[in-house]
Order: sequence, then structure tokens, then C-alpha cells
Amino acid sequence: MKCSFCSKSIDPGTGKMVVQSNGKILHFCSGKCEKNRGMGRDPRKFKWAQN
Ligand SMILES: [Zn+2]
Repeated sequence: MKCSFCSKSIDPGTGKMVVQSNGKILHFCSGKCEKNRGMGRDPRKFKWAQN
């Protein structure tokens, strides 16, 4: 499973799953990624989010 924001792989049992109102499921490795995704930020603008 990969983080929906930074594309880092997430170990089973860690990270966070978010179900959007449109039924799409997002997975995040950390609250940082969830927050940035929620703000509509582009992961390509973040060095730490590049794989
Ligand atoms: Zn992430």
C-alpha cells in the first residue's frame, strides 16, 4: 500500500485511511501527508514527498 500523498509505502497496521465523500479511499503514511493532501497541495512541490 502506498501513501496517497508522498507515494511512500505504508506498512500494514500503520498510517491512516481516509474515505472521501465521493467514496474514494486514501491512505496516508502520516498526519503530515493527510494534512497537506487535505489542503490540496501538490506533492511534486515537496522534496520530502518525492520518491
Ligand atoms: Zn506520506
